[in-house]
Amino acid sequence: MKEPTLGNPQNTIQILQKYHFVFQKKFGQNFLIDTHVLEKIIRAAEIGKDDCVLEIGPGIGTMTQYLACAAGKVIAVEIDRALIPILGDTLDGFDNVRVINEDVLKIDIARLAEEENGGKPIKVVANLPYYITTPIIMGLFEGHVPVKSITVMVQKEVADRMQTGPGSKDYGALSLAVQYYAKPYVAANVPPNCFMPRPKVGSAVIRLERYSEPPVQVEDERLMFRLIRASFNQRRKTLANGLKNSPELDLTKEEIERAIAELGKGAGVRGETLTLEEFAKLSNIIYNARK
Ligand code: SAM
Repeated sequence: MKEPTLGNPQNTIQILQKYHFVFQKKFGQNFLIDTHVLEKIIRAAEIGKDDCVLEIGPGIGTMTQYLACAAGKVIAVEIDRALIPILGDTLDGFDNVRVINEDVLKIDIARLAEEENGGKPIKVVANLPYYITTPIIMGLFEGHVPVKSITVMVQKEVADRMQTGPGSKDYGALSLAVQYYAKPYVAANVPPNCFMPRPKVGSAVIRLERYSEPPVQVEDERLMFRLIRASFNQRRKTLANGLKNSPELDLTKEEIERAIAELGKGAGVRGETLTLEEFAKLSNIIYNARK
């Protein structure tokens, strides 16, 4: 196996010039140019030779080279056709990598995991295109893709939202969804000068370790997530109003008031003060009352 050659500004610029590559803003292209950050990501992801890794958006193949050295197998899904010949060049000699030229939001990742890893859980590692962070992560969780962990570079603010709880302005539907499926842990904060071109925002590497069993018991997951979305859609309203106004729910005023009282909360409680346990309990109260 070859050693990684990319990951510093000089070699990145050389490759970009060789192929007259033009950055596509619409694809969220900010390439990593810092070897320390790359090593930190690989360490945080705890990749070993038994692992099959899905990399979303390999770019010119910088992190792919590091992943190829650490993992048994790497599947790299890249949307930008212009990067495919570059990847052919930079990944030459890294024999355990398969590059797929597709939109990651349009492929069946569960099937890919089945084909490439016999259905055993894969690890996802990526410097994500920031414009689709949430759909990618939620797609992996809700699509029941067999995933052991997700270690990704995201906007710092999004990493904060994923790991926070009630009482913070960052707390919301994403926090609850992530924390229902996984244990979040921020492995590193990464400043803009570690990328080319520099993004306008700070970044962070977050590791989401998937639970084998969710931390709360829920009778109907879809109902709980509808309640969560309804509560945060109208942040400044009370929980009761949020639930009443939701187009996704069909609950009467009386049903809502009874459920909130049974939860042990006052009529004026706001959704943003509820914990995951409380959303689970509220969802089970409503589910059982409707049975
Ligand atoms: N991994 C590289 C690195 O760290 O230098 C590049 C990371 S860059 C932030 C995001 C990458 O995702 C780009 O290569 C971009 O073209 C790709 N990308 C954007 N949208 C995508 C999509 N829907 N499906 C697959 N790849 C996508």
